[in-house]
Amino acid sequence: MTARVIDGVALSARIREEVALRAAALTAQGVRPGLAVILVGIDPASQVYVRNKVAACEKAGLHSVMEQYPATMTQQELLERVHALNADPAIHGILVQLPLPKHMDPHQVIEAIAAQKDVDGFHVSNAGLLMTGKPLFRPCTPYGVMKMLEAENVPLRGAVAVIIGASNIVGKPMALLLQSAGATVTICNSKTRDLAWHTRHADIVVVATGRPRMVDGSMLKPGAVVIDVGINRTAEGKLCGDVDYESAREVASAITPVPGGVGPMTIAMLLVNTIEAAERTLAARQH
Ligand code: NAD
Repeated sequence: MTARVIDGVALSARIREEVALRAAALTAQGVRPGLAVILVGIDPASQVYVRNKVAACEKAGLHSVMEQYPATMTQQELLERVHALNADPAIHGILVQLPLPKHMDPHQVIEAIAAQKDVDGFHVSNAGLLMTGKPLFRPCTPYGVMKMLEAENVPLRGAVAVIIGASNIVGKPMALLLQSAGATVTICNSKTRDLAWHTRHADIVVVATGRPRMVDGSMLKPGAVVIDVGINRTAEGKLCGDVDYESAREVASAITPVPGGVGPMTIAMLLVNTIEAAERTLAARQH
């Protein structure tokens, strides 16, 4: 079996077209959706992510502000910028690009973002709302994965899903979204014994570890749907995922490539979250 390739570039382009229409409708009603992205330091990968996010906003007709600060910025200075953006009516979404320099506490910074502008969905109150089944914002990467599974008509009710990686930004919210959709979910981490035993029982495998090509075809159940969240750089400077694509695609029924899979979906869902935030502002104004 050679797996169907789940094309994140094409699906994200369709989503961004819908975003552009919703942005135009909001703008016509006097609310131009606005996203502020803050980058502290000069991490090269973060710079690329931030640039791509801002470019996607502009292409879809959203207002975007990129604030870039040196790594020497103090946490207090960063908090003051976040507070100013919280109070800015032209801004509906605020994103502080992680990782932050070591002298800052990312939790304190994320908690400073107004929950209704936390388009990454990382604030504890948004994590709590997701946990209790009433999400305000779904974290962009797992939200994008759900959109891919939906677009591919992957049955979720009763499916066995194994997520490898238990981070707050990918693995845990991914588990909650899949569980809400009726899947039976196992979350594996670096201490999991016999990882392959888990993955071989899974209808859906989501891998988000940052360990290049750690899941190969021998670890998969024939016909599994494989979602590779990982973004790693090889010694030759090429991008690769956490899944060994060549062997996995011979066993899986559908698989996301890297690049061109989950990555573009994450950006598209950031735009969706910003639109949703702006739509809520308009609705509040009309009541
Ligand atoms: P993280 O480092 O915060 O978490 C990694 C998780 O993987 C941890 O729970 C750890 O226990 C687990 N893990 C590590 N080694 C393991 C092993 N050998 N077996 C089982 N579990 C193991 O990482 P993160 O922020 O969740 O990111 C994971 C990967 O996803 C990275 O490659 C990152 O670049 C990528 N990522 C991609 C996108 C995207 O848009 N495509 C978004 C976010 C993160």
